[in-house]
Amino acid sequence: AKADGRKHERFFTSEMASRIQARHALEADLRLALHSDEFELHYQPLYDLRQQRICGFEALVRWNHPTRGRVPPMEFIPLAEEVGLVVDIGRWVLRKACREAACWPEGIKIAVNVSAIQFTSSNLLADVDEAIAEAAISPARLELEITESVLMENLDDTLPILHALKERGIRISMDDFGTGYSSLSYLSSFPFDKIKIDKSFVCGIAENKEAYAIMHAIILLGDALGMRVTVEGVETAEQKSLLESEECDEIQGYYISPPAPAADVARLLLASRSG
Ligand code: C2E
Ligand code: CA
Ligand code: CA
Ligand code: CA
Repeated sequence: AKADGRKHERFFTSEMASRIQARHALEADLRLALHSDEFELHYQPLYDLRQQRICGFEALVRWNHPTRGRVPPMEFIPLAEEVGLVVDIGRWVLRKACREAACWPEGIKIAVNVSAIQFTSSNLLADVDEAIAEAAISPARLELEITESVLMENLDDTLPILHALKERGIRISMDDFGTGYSSLSYLSSFPFDKIKIDKSFVCGIAENKEAYAIMHAIILLGDALGMRVTVEGVETAEQKSLLESEECDEIQGYYISPPAPAADVARLLLASRSG
């Protein structure tokens, strides 16, 4: 048994060492990525269920690594948060998204994800003001998507920033709603303009009564609190039509369109208007 244990130990040690090495390599590459112009934004439509057309886009960052190809945000955003790089990346995303949205029709909103780190270790307000001024867009077109962790970090520091953003006319959405352990209590801490119900809740709604009941209840809750309700991860026509019979304002998901390069936005808007 003892020999076995040693074997495991060695195995884990070398595996851990190579994992740490890979992480360091990725971190080094991440530090260069911004200056080497390796980031790009893709845009996924937000689809208004009443108007039956696209009403905005969410900006989703893409890292085109020179040798690894495309690295998913789930792999590098958490790393960027840990090493503080998410502040610079986040500033770049804000500026780029506002500049690209400036070319779209006035009524089309732009949603940008903001990490908790940006609230605590950057001058988020100044960054947002600069991005809006530089692009010359109305603040009312900008939506910032935050997860519960943003609030959890430090409510006393974050709340004044959120209120200042709202005073500017910027909208605040609670992202991934339902996944945090205390989502409900956070709903009363701040007047969110929108909740985005996490995609994990949409999966079974067409097949299973219980999943549908939960979705129904969350939508009613958001609606009762006067928030716009978006359901993420809508992948089928059946899910879309089920949500049409609910007090759901917007959907987002592969059924409408996967995230697409900025060059595709005009085509998506055109198709959404004629369709
Ligand atoms: P998120 O903010 O919840 O973004 C939605 C994610 O769901 C995106 O993944 C999108 O591609 C994916 N998705 C969209 N429709 C569907 C669908 O119908 N089915 C399924 N299964 N998935 C769908 P993506 O682009 O890989 O981004 C993952 C996460 O990375 C985002 O989750 C967000 O938390 C983070 N992220 C992306 N861009 C940024 C950014 O610029 N800044 C920050 N701080 N985080 C970002
Ligand atoms: Ca989001
Ligand atoms: Ca989400
Ligand atoms: Ca409503």
